[in-house]
Amino acid sequence: MTDANLNKIIQLRLEKTAKALESNNMTAYIVQTKAEAAEKVKSLIKKGDVIASGGSVTLNECGIIDMVKSPDYCYLDRNAVPPEEVPDIYRKAFTADVYLSSANAITENGELYNVDGNSNRVAAIAYGPESVIIVAGFNKIVGSLDEAANRVKKTAAPANTVRLDCDTYCAKAGECAAFSKGNDEITCGCSSDARICCNYLISAKQRHKGRIKVILVAENLGF
Ligand code: SF4
Repeated sequence: MTDANLNKIIQLRLEKTAKALESNNMTAYIVQTKAEAAEKVKSLIKKGDVIASGGSVTLNECGIIDMVKSPDYCYLDRNAVPPEEVPDIYRKAFTADVYLSSANAITENGELYNVDGNSNRVAAIAYGPESVIIVAGFNKIVGSLDEAANRVKKTAAPANTVRLDCDTYCAKAGECAAFSKGNDEITCGCSSDARICCNYLISAKQRHKGRIKVILVAENLGF
């Protein structure tokens, strides 16, 4: 159980971030638990929706992927098709009703920060699906875009390269090669063919109000 004093700070930062997201034309929700996050997603989708998703530990931890595999929805499941059909699943995501993802970081200024290797996820967040639902734990909230970039290089990308068994510097060293080069530019990193930091998406003020919904959860989720 979270200490009451710490919980107060968590709630204040969630509220600050939610307000900033709203001012950037994204709809923000604050929930307290993984279970509430799943319930909120359920309230934002409808039976028969075609749903696609990015790879996400957060969505799995919340039980959201299991939920959308229900026959009530048409889930474009990349894990249910042979490898040669996966690119087709990625392309179909652009015409899905709903795209589900987490974020690598969310700034208190109301920006989403995502970095991809294959880049099907950043592409669908930027354009295509009618509705995009982002679910993110408190641990994804950072103060600035510099902190977001640092978060990806120190935590998100190294952990994902381990998860995906990628032969990269960070999977062995625990942090991006950028630090060993003394270069803090956003795109500095390794030259591995397995690099997962290839396209960098910052979602700032949105032209299509409400297309992106962000569910902020007062728990640590994913990485
Ligand atoms: S650029 Fe390479 S070393 Fe740096 S975080 Fe990305 S995959 Fe890891």
